Amino acid sequence: MESSQAIIVHGGAWAIPDDQVTAHIAGCVAARTAGWQVLQNGGSALEAVEVAVRVMEDDPIFDAGTGSVLTSAGTVELDAALMDGRTLRYGAVAGLRRIRNPIMLARYVLQGPATMLVGTGAEEFAATVGIPLCENAELIVERERRLWLEWKEKGALPPPPTSGHDTVGAIALDREGNLVAANSTGGTPFKLPGRVGDTPLVGCGLYATPVGAAVCTGWGESITRVALARRVVELLEDGLPPQVAAERGIHLLAELVAGGRGGVIVLTPNGEVGLAWNTSRMAYAYITSHGAAQAGV
Ligand code: ASP
Repeated sequence: MESSQAIIVHGGAWAIPDDQVTAHIAGCVAARTAGWQVLQNGGSALEAVEVAVRVMEDDPIFDAGTGSVLTSAGTVELDAALMDGRTLRYGAVAGLRRIRNPIMLARYVLQGPATMLVGTGAEEFAATVGIPLCENAELIVERERRLWLEWKEKGALPPPPTSGHDTVGAIALDREGNLVAANSTGGTPFKLPGRVGDTPLVGCGLYATPVGAAVCTGWGESITRVALARRVVELLEDGLPPQVAAERGIHLLAELVAGGRGGVIVLTPNGEVGLAWNTSRMAYAYITSHGAAQAGV
């Protein structure tokens, strides 16, 4: 029997404003299409998630790569990670100021001796693998600069970090039956410089084994405290269906941490998906070789 293939992506769990819903869904669909094409052409899950996340990093609607939220210092600082379910190899980068596509660098880290590289060391490593540096200002879009100025100069109330943002993530299943999880973020608005949320942390923002994979989004500090991605994969290992595991994971997040908020996407080796969130919206899109395809918030 032909093995299943599938890809699921998310574009962040938070209160996506009405006038940004269409763009978020379109961005997720574009990422899904790009990743699915890789899988259809016989590419690996690793390639598929990298391509899908890169599409969303380059789409300024999302809080990843270009268009990310600003720190309290008015800069962009980026985190990203990948995890391979079969080998348990994991590669992460954090606190990047001069890398346009952190997911590309995370993939090089996954292939190397370290599991995580941060800050200037990560940027120096980028040079050794041929990834060019950009200026931090090139990652900043007018929408975010305006929000930051309103907060800084006019005293506008910042969105609470508990509300999460439009971080991006993806899980793919290739014809070899391998699952790979990936994500990328600019973090939460006006975060302290140097702050790292759940996104690049193994077991928190993402986890993958041969049994299943989970990728989280939302209030990073709450997700980190419960190691949400690992918990959700454990529920799969206990035999729960992916939708039940996703819902139970989000329930645990709210139960164990006061105000715990976020969302999770899940994929299993037979191509079954799960997705749940307790924020007002989470943008997502998926497609499977069983003919299931959906996108929404
Ligand atoms: N979890 C991310 C962080 O806290 C934000 C998000 O998912 O939107 O950095």
